[in-house]
Amino acid sequence: MIRSRALSQATLLSALLLSLSCTREQPAVDPQIASAIEGIKAIDNHAHPVLTDPADREFDALPVDSMEAQSDPVVYRPGSVRTPFTKQSKDAARQKYGDAYPAWVLDQIGVETMLANREAMGKSVMPPRFRWVPYADALIFPLDNSRLAAKNSDRKAFFALEDKLRARYLADASVTALPATLADYISRVVTPTLERHKAGGALAEKFEAAYLRALDFDPADEAQADRAYRARTPSDADYKILQDYLFRVVAAECGGLGMAVHLHTAAGAGGYFDVAGANPLHLQSLLNDPSLRKTKFVMVHGGWPFTREITPLLTKPNAYLDFSQQSLVVSPATLAATLREWLEQVPEKVMFATDAYPYSNELGWEESGWLSAPNGREALGRALTAMLRDGDITRTRADELARMVLRDNARTIYGL
Ligand SMILES: [Zn+2]
Repeated sequence: MIRSRALSQATLLSALLLSLSCTREQPAVDPQIASAIEGIKAIDNHAHPVLTDPADREFDALPVDSMEAQSDPVVYRPGSVRTPFTKQSKDAARQKYGDAYPAWVLDQIGVETMLANREAMGKSVMPPRFRWVPYADALIFPLDNSRLAAKNSDRKAFFALEDKLRARYLADASVTALPATLADYISRVVTPTLERHKAGGALAEKFEAAYLRALDFDPADEAQADRAYRARTPSDADYKILQDYLFRVVAAECGGLGMAVHLHTAAGAGGYFDVAGANPLHLQSLLNDPSLRKTKFVMVHGGWPFTREITPLLTKPNAYLDFSQQSLVVSPATLAATLREWLEQVPEKVMFATDAYPYSNELGWEESGWLSAPNGREALGRALTAMLRDGDITRTRADELARMVLRDNARTIYGL
């Protein structure tokens, strides 16, 4: 008995050692899966491409490149980034390709179509390679925002920018002063803005609201919202009711117009960012609202660090996500574990994205896209390889899942 146990322990030990040595020899990504992934031209669900015009500042409604200092994640630190792009090589390519330079950048990172989250498109960032995702936050903060802006220096800068964008939306709607009632504001400013965006080719409206408030957009009473609107300087609690109401109006209208709603769901830039407020679980009442079931909510950045909390939300019929930003700041090994969990649950709602963004001179949208795209592909490869090796999926299914995540899911969601 003792002898046989010793034997079986020895057998177990040698089996373990054998499996460890096999693991060491096996590449993290199965070569066939890697080459399949390599060959797929991606649709990038979320990024901020920059025009060739050096004065372009419309790449983000709330640029994060001039905030109060924080402890930067390693990837954002000077000197930590190595890419094939240098100032000289980028200048040479700009010279050579002119307005086709941004499309050339997409070719370098294996992206066929990039959803461009920008205030406006431009000559060098246009369909078919770039598709527009404008911003809707300014519409839900129509009143005096000075009290919200006073919370910290980041919010002060952000609300000033939102006030400016809302003034632009009012001007574009030929409205000179804030309409007297909430109903007038919606019919004369909100609806025309969304319709103009749709006519301009927008696939979705983006909310960066997590930089401005928590994502708990609760059901709100119209009469209460109207009272807050008419008060002009309501209490913070009453203003929240108005914002909640307007958010739901925008979301419903987006559904009617066939546009998705993109929401920043992740810890964001800046030392004052409200991480808890960005938890995607705050979105549950929206996702569960029967009147919003026609609106596709895309949880941009996949909720990091709440990546487990977001998983069950994917079973809501109107919920989708991408893994942008994570592909830049999280290692492929870490992201792979998250991706595997999502792919095991609702794989048709998971989308590739880079969040290519002009963080600094050294880490431009070219560099961040160049770092993020292969990281995202490697993470996907690792997740599929682990599923294949565990016998959870076949090779055929692995190829299918790779195509879904890299492009087919986005094509279905936006009707591309
Ligand atoms: Zn972004």
